[in-house]
Amino acid sequence: MRNEVIKMGKYWIALDDGHGIDTAGKRTPYFEDGSYMIENEFNNSVINKVYDLLKFYNEIDVFLTKSEKYDVSLDERIRRVNTAYDNYNKKFPNSKCVLVSVHANAFNGIWGIQNGTSTHYYPTNMIDKAFAEIINKNLVSKTGLRNRGNTGNDFQIIRDCKMTACLCECAFMDNLKEAKLLLTDEFRQACAEGIVNGLLEYFGISKIEKNKQNSGEKYEYNFSEAQINNKVIYSETSNGSRQIFLPPEKVNIDVYPNLKSNNTFKYEYAINATFFGGNPVYSTSPLIVDGKVYRWGSNYDKPQSCFIIYSDNSVDMKRLKSVSDLGNNLYSVKHLIGGIGLINNKDKNFKYDLTSEGFDGSIGIGVSRKCNKTVLAYIENTNQVVFLTRPNIYHSHPQEYDLIKLCKDCEYTFAVALDGGGSTFMIADEEYKLKGDGRGIYSVLFCE
Ligand SMILES: [Zn+2]
Repeated sequence: MRNEVIKMGKYWIALDDGHGIDTAGKRTPYFEDGSYMIENEFNNSVINKVYDLLKFYNEIDVFLTKSEKYDVSLDERIRRVNTAYDNYNKKFPNSKCVLVSVHANAFNGIWGIQNGTSTHYYPTNMIDKAFAEIINKNLVSKTGLRNRGNTGNDFQIIRDCKMTACLCECAFMDNLKEAKLLLTDEFRQACAEGIVNGLLEYFGISKIEKNKQNSGEKYEYNFSEAQINNKVIYSETSNGSRQIFLPPEKVNIDVYPNLKSNNTFKYEYAINATFFGGNPVYSTSPLIVDGKVYRWGSNYDKPQSCFIIYSDNSVDMKRLKSVSDLGNNLYSVKHLIGGIGLINNKDKNFKYDLTSEGFDGSIGIGVSRKCNKTVLAYIENTNQVVFLTRPNIYHSHPQEYDLIKLCKDCEYTFAVALDGGGSTFMIADEEYKLKGDGRGIYSVLFCE
């Protein structure tokens, strides 16, 4: 599942794949071997390729009208895209927003001579027309097929969406030669490149050449956006690692002590805080919210790194063995979250120690809190708390050192890795859902 990623708020592109894999009728006639291609296979492949090409552009945000495999009704797609557009516009009122809907054409569903590439705009909308013309020129130059032109049509998606929009019919499904093209990865890539070239031309953005693009497989930490005081800022790398910068006073925690299974919650910017269950073995990190001690397991005979926000909004990281180590400071603790200490530039004696989590590095005994996906950090220079998440990271030792390097590269003053249900990401999609890995979410750090 791919989600909208908000980067800088300059350009916003909604991509629509037209139909679902189960939409009746939208397919090629039968090929000689009795097989056929469903239109959505092509449409979806192209928009995913467009998405992949656009992720290298920091100034462009991308939204998909659907990420489900099954069909989502046109009404629902339009509702989603208009809601996302409204939200985006609220955040970034001066952004430019467009929608591209990708299709394969059909005449009457019987093999015939109909052929070519076309683009479509809503007939009375001259802004759409100008946009579609640029897409048309770039798309046709990549498909290499006959240009059927840019025509005005009353299609629902381009009529009812609030942003500038264009619908592309890349080639004909019921032209045998073109249907065979529609099946190929090369043609799908060509269509995606044509659409991206058109989008870049329309926005006036210069193209990033392929050899300058990150592979997306290797971890590169290029959080490029400025770190500005007293604002909530969302940034992302090409590989999907995400950071949220926020002032300490905006950090908040919701605790759900009685939840037992996977849950979703609505927050705009959030990560899991700590995971804790009924079994004391799994009652992991200490957690204090507004002076109330939710967790501080009696099984902690080892000190644990704790990220602390005091009621005067000062921030600190301390290794504590028990709640009594806080002494009188307990009464001034607003939030305290235990984790694995990764770096602490304020403490000369600090060194990374897996056992600081409260377990003896307990791989193989059922609990190995090797929390290398979700980090809570603080940058003293700019007085910012940071939520960091990394996708697709598996639990293993080397990556923890990799994470420490990342924390240093990001110039965190101190940082703890969190056990947010084990493997939880912050997901800022249109629904703002936070998802666990099935084991439950018991406390959530969110931005007020
Ligand atoms: Zn279609």
